[in-house]
Amino acid sequence: MLLAYRPDAIDALRTPTPDEPWRVLVSGCLAAWPCGVEGTDYGLGAVLRDLLALPTVRALPFCPEQHALGTPRTMPDIHGGDGVDVVAGRARVLDEHGADLTEAMLAGARAMLAHARDGGAELAILTDASAACGSQVISDGCRLVPVRRHQKGVGVATAMLLDAGVPVVSQRDHRTVARLRARLEPGWTAPAGLLDHHEHPWTVEHLPRRHPRA
Ligand code: SF4
Repeated sequence: MLLAYRPDAIDALRTPTPDEPWRVLVSGCLAAWPCGVEGTDYGLGAVLRDLLALPTVRALPFCPEQHALGTPRTMPDIHGGDGVDVVAGRARVLDEHGADLTEAMLAGARAMLAHARDGGAELAILTDASAACGSQVISDGCRLVPVRRHQKGVGVATAMLLDAGVPVVSQRDHRTVARLRARLEPGWTAPAGLLDHHEHPWTVEHLPRRHPRA
């Protein structure tokens, strides 16, 4: 399930403690791994730093693209659907040169799912817009074009995790991440006005249709 659409599921999670922290699968770049296509963390390493440092969290970082394709690498994007369609064989992953990366992306996704299972992951916080880790908004075809197109949908690794029952939230779902933090850090109060990615004015204007996996 996508937690941004299921706040009740957060309330139903067990109470985390320092002795029994939540085991949270995290995109490697959100854990400051320099695993982005060009060898950086895309500047994301600071986004969840405070949350991941809480004693009630055990982070399980992984990068499915680095695992399967190495770093640096070309830019994968999904053509003809989203990650669920790729897993089902209805869509492909191509890089900006037209090379077919579908099998590698499926291998990386399987490895991320195995990592989640090995670590007993109870939920996942993943980087949005990625063809592997995206969960709310991803590119519709190659992003390295003059006019980039977007779609609501999930990446390939996210599709496998959702199918396996691992709840997923993106780092851009600020309201939902704050709701998680309030469970992790009793007494912490979220700032007012936080929005999830699908509630952001840009998303509402440009991608008004309902998320196909929500
Ligand atoms: S595949 Fe996921 S973990 Fe790896 S760089 Fe892309 S968003 Fe980050």
